Amino acid sequence: MNRRISILIIVPLILLIILGCARIGIPFLWTPNPLRGVRIVIDPGHGGVATKQSPTGGTKGPRGLREPDANLAVALQLKKMLKDAGAKVFLTREVDRRMTPIGSTYSQELHARPAFAVLKDADIFISLHHNAPGPGRNPEEINFTSTYVYTEPTPFEMGLAQAIQHNVVASMGSEDGGVHKGDFHVLRENPVQAVLVEFSFLTNSAEENRVRDTHYNYLEARGVYNGLVTYLRTYNIKKVPLKPLALEQDKERAGYFIDHYVPRLYNPVKGEIDQRFLYGMLDEGGTPRRFISFSVPADTPVYSAWDGEVVYVNTVSQPDPLFPYKNCVVIRHDHVLEGTPIYTVYGNMKTVLAWTYEKVTPETVIGLTDSSDTEETNLKFEVRVGGRGAEFAQNPELWILSVHNREAGYIVGRVFNRKKKPMYNTQIQGVVKVFGYDKTPQLYTYPKGVKGSTFWDETFAISDVLPNPEGSSYHLIIGDREIEVKVQACKVTYINLK
Ligand SMILES: [Zn+2]
Repeated sequence: MNRRISILIIVPLILLIILGCARIGIPFLWTPNPLRGVRIVIDPGHGGVATKQSPTGGTKGPRGLREPDANLAVALQLKKMLKDAGAKVFLTREVDRRMTPIGSTYSQELHARPAFAVLKDADIFISLHHNAPGPGRNPEEINFTSTYVYTEPTPFEMGLAQAIQHNVVASMGSEDGGVHKGDFHVLRENPVQAVLVEFSFLTNSAEENRVRDTHYNYLEARGVYNGLVTYLRTYNIKKVPLKPLALEQDKERAGYFIDHYVPRLYNPVKGEIDQRFLYGMLDEGGTPRRFISFSVPADTPVYSAWDGEVVYVNTVSQPDPLFPYKNCVVIRHDHVLEGTPIYTVYGNMKTVLAWTYEKVTPETVIGLTDSSDTEETNLKFEVRVGGRGAEFAQNPELWILSVHNREAGYIVGRVFNRKKKPMYNTQIQGVVKVFGYDKTPQLYTYPKGVKGSTFWDETFAISDVLPNPEGSSYHLIIGDREIEVKVQACKVTYINLK
């Protein structure tokens, strides 16, 4: 064949094959190494000094091989393989030691291991063990490989466990005991994708002899390594997904009727509301807002939120540090929250019509709004619960009825990152339909220093949420998590995301 013709045929043919492979997900020669950069914690099970009060668990071979030593021997070889492949590897222990001091319980010892994975910001957690049969079974007749996932595994954990199980059995030439669900502490209490491998039964004397051999340990480690590569590569997993964490619905707080807790406080503003700056937003100078700002036409009457007594009036241009607004009225409401005083603060009005010690009702006009052409003149509205000081400021939207629609629901909650620190000023995205206007693009968790309510202690709040139709739900993306939320009319959906 003519050289030019052969190039004309071969080059497009190669391109076609490459493109074809990429399309159907077949790993081709230069498939990127799926282990590069993946953060893996290897947990050689048990280890170190055990006492009756502080056991560390683990089994023993008939000739005395300790399980913690066997697990560590495999872990050290696995670490080397994974590191060579570019993974970031962390061992819960690299010597024969416990993770917690003597005196700690077994469950504290177990808990230290997932805690270590969180500390290392791990993507994957693999616990390595050797097995022992239950009572009444002849250990010499039992020897197989099994891999465990938690009783409610993620799809990632399930897929990884199956790949590891298959490859460990192939590498060791062992009997296939299958993948099982188990309520193990290190799997259950683990915010990182986690599996647990029981390579074989150390209680079987032939197996104990094999496990003493470093080449056999190499085969065990290689099985796990191959399982990881197979799973990540075959399923084209470019990034280990974060484990969706348990969404703890606090029964006492979730589904609480707003009306039950927040008495009939009225909308402080009657009239068209064009715009609001939400509680807990950062203003341009980076200062968190502890108020809601209403943009309303000039001379709109402002009503008292509820029965109460005017305790403070300021009509001077130099604001009081406690109530930093000009033309400000503060009302103390006594009949709410079982004796805890609630103060509502109305600032930056054009005209104050209330006087100190005046008794007011929801029908009382306490002032008139200023023009709304600049933000400075918007009506500022605060709710302070338990005391008058600024430190008592809480999200007014959780203390007054929905501004736009009395049928609205609320989403409030506390969110933490994977290191269990509250998430401040984190954008919340997702499909949330809000009455009146689209609030989603500018929705953030509160900045640091902004207080949640006495009751919910929330780190974010989304008010005026349209109740979603029966059978459907909202999806919120907070930080790197996606969660499903159901919202009911006049109810608070409480999220506690740890
Ligand atoms: Zn074990």
